[in-house]
Amino acid sequence: MTGLVNLMEETVLEKIDQLWGQTEYCKCEKCRMDIAAYALNRLPPRYVQSFEGKMLHQFESRTTQTDVEITAVVFQGIKIVGEEPHKNTNEY
Ligand SMILES: [Zn+2]
Repeated sequence: MTGLVNLMEETVLEKIDQLWGQTEYCKCEKCRMDIAAYALNRLPPRYVQSFEGKMLHQFESRTTQTDVEITAVVFQGIKIVGEEPHKNTNEY
């Protein structure tokens, strides 16, 4: 099976899990997805081909600079969603 995977999505979800621990905000799956949507709408996608679920994990090491940006955007998303959780909107 061959498909496309957005590495940014993987990275953003990892980042949320890393940064969330430092906050007191709601940590349900809806909030997690809202934060992910917020961040992914503001970061460029990174599509790679995935062969049978195997992905190339060269992303992080090659993009140290972007890592700072990703962290900033994800943290902003955590704050915005966390201050006002479970808002029924798709406008992240
Ligand atoms: Zn929640």
